[in-house]
Amino acid sequence: MARLPFSESEYRGRQSRFLDKIPHDCLVLIPTNPASIRSNDVHYPFRASSYMLYLCGWSEPESVLMAKHNGKNWVVSLFVQPNDTTAEIWEGRRIGIEGASSGWPIDEAYSLLEMNEIVTDSLKKSNGVYLIQNLNADIDQIVNDSLTSKSRQRNTYGMGPISLVDPSSLLDELRIRKSQEEIDVMQKSADLASMAHSIAMKKSHTGIGEWEIQAIIEGCFQSNGSQWSYPSIVGGGDNATILHYHANNQPVSDGELVLVDAGCEVEGYASDITRTWPVNGKFTEPQREIYNLVLEAEIAGIEACQVGAPWNASHKATMEVISRGLIELGILNCTFEEAMGEDLDGKTRQFFMHGTSHSLGLDVHDVGVTRPGGKGDGRLLEEGMVLTVEPGVYFASWREDVEIPERYSGIGIRIEDDVLITKNGPVVLTSNCPKEITEIETLVGSGL
Ligand code: CA
Repeated sequence: MARLPFSESEYRGRQSRFLDKIPHDCLVLIPTNPASIRSNDVHYPFRASSYMLYLCGWSEPESVLMAKHNGKNWVVSLFVQPNDTTAEIWEGRRIGIEGASSGWPIDEAYSLLEMNEIVTDSLKKSNGVYLIQNLNADIDQIVNDSLTSKSRQRNTYGMGPISLVDPSSLLDELRIRKSQEEIDVMQKSADLASMAHSIAMKKSHTGIGEWEIQAIIEGCFQSNGSQWSYPSIVGGGDNATILHYHANNQPVSDGELVLVDAGCEVEGYASDITRTWPVNGKFTEPQREIYNLVLEAEIAGIEACQVGAPWNASHKATMEVISRGLIELGILNCTFEEAMGEDLDGKTRQFFMHGTSHSLGLDVHDVGVTRPGGKGDGRLLEEGMVLTVEPGVYFASWREDVEIPERYSGIGIRIEDDVLITKNGPVVLTSNCPKEITEIETLVGSGL
């Protein structure tokens, strides 16, 4: 039977912080994700929407959360799949209406079969509606009918909603700061992903298939009751230079590095780790040079994650280290200023073409505005924010648009950790995942 990952007071706190921002004469409707068909009557594994998980921890399909103010306080209701023996024989047990109302942080539970009538009636008594659209066609239709109605109630009595607002940004702003209960869960997610990467290092050897490393890592997730939070990237040699490589179908040869970007989900919360290691257990000299550069940049990026620093402080820090390093190694033949560029868009971007940080939480690329208006250094970091720090340097041998010294051709390295912002400085949630060269060289192949 499903259970709640957080305390009732944690959920109630989230609900009230959200509903405090909604006018009392408005109705709130938050549907969960739709089920997705893979093939005919086979579905992709269902995953509830992060907003639904955030507000009440409900993970069954088709559900809709509704909040309505009764003049005194907000009443939070949940429309759920009712118990149905035939459906449950085929698809699994349902929590049902009674289970939902007694065990979940909501005030009332109703059958989805009653949703049309109850929501239509509630809309008539509302002046506005806060709805996340395009997730549930039934709810979208009910709200649209209500908004466009030309009924007597609407025309003569002035009843019914006249505005439609997307509440996502209100929720995103709450989700960007994590509570202590959320941080504890994210630490578990980070620990499990760290363990999976360590095991994969131990079991690595010359000739290992990218898919085998993927299986070791995802097997570790699954055997610990978890799953991936995004499809794992396992790229050997030149494949490491493809940022979103997903084929994972090539063997990794002697002397090659493998880049593994993989994270898991615990109670819905993602971890996101990248490590790069030599499958034969020994970095070559050119690999070592680039690895040390990326590691130095990553450590500088983490150090920049301080309360009050702007969102892109980590990116600026990694760009500076990598720009200097590429010039020192003779890979870039330009000034430091040219390498950095006016807006961190200089020559270094030929080899480090992505950002350094993204927010992390219920979504692996978590919600929340980090760079208002798309310009400037971004909002200031606050306690409780969690973000990744992940610089990388990539020398794809197949690229014709840039000149790459033969010595470094085919090397792609990224190092990524998950960082919690605290008033005492950055806390690396993924610190159990080895990243120093000596640690990696000792570990790789030690578990064969
Ligand atoms: Ca990643």
